[in-house]
Amino acid sequence: MVDTNHPAPQGIEGPGFFATQLDAVVGLARKNSLWPLPFATSCCGIEFMATMASHYDLARFGSERPSFSPRQADLLMVMGTIAKKMGPVLRQTYEQMAEPRWVLSVGACASSGGIFDTYSVLQGIDRVIPVDVYVPGCPPRPEQIIEGLLKIQELAANESTRRRDSEEYKALLESYSIS
Ligand code: SF4
Repeated sequence: MVDTNHPAPQGIEGPGFFATQLDAVVGLARKNSLWPLPFATSCCGIEFMATMASHYDLARFGSERPSFSPRQADLLMVMGTIAKKMGPVLRQTYEQMAEPRWVLSVGACASSGGIFDTYSVLQGIDRVIPVDVYVPGCPPRPEQIIEGLLKIQELAANESTRRRDSEEYKALLESYSIS
């Protein structure tokens, strides 16, 4: 039976063999085994809990295993208001994650400070770490969080295995003073 959600990569096939690009196989594996680290500080975290629970069931996308150790996570999901004092903690968490790592900014607060345009709130986590996908909303519904995860899956599936060694990626990290 053909699995339309996880199509086989393009390649050449014949009786008893199938050949494809290494990047395509690695991308397929990465895409379907993203381990999220939920960095939840307020209400958007509750939406994440709903997203993980049986009705929405993030396990359908291979991400049912939340990691509370950055060293065993490859998807940092930031959900909630991030105070400026929390910025260095978020950054340290990101730095402790191994490559390849992706960042999903969930909700208005994480993405832009949201309604909290105050002296104490970080006006977007992209001021301290690079972000791959932003999910809008206050709060975003679980469907939106899933949509964000699907976008990250798309990035993971199509990313070259050499991207993390590229000058462009190094320059991106350097712009955040991350070595
Ligand atoms: S975006 Fe809205 S729901 Fe999410 S943490 Fe901020 S105030 Fe709460």
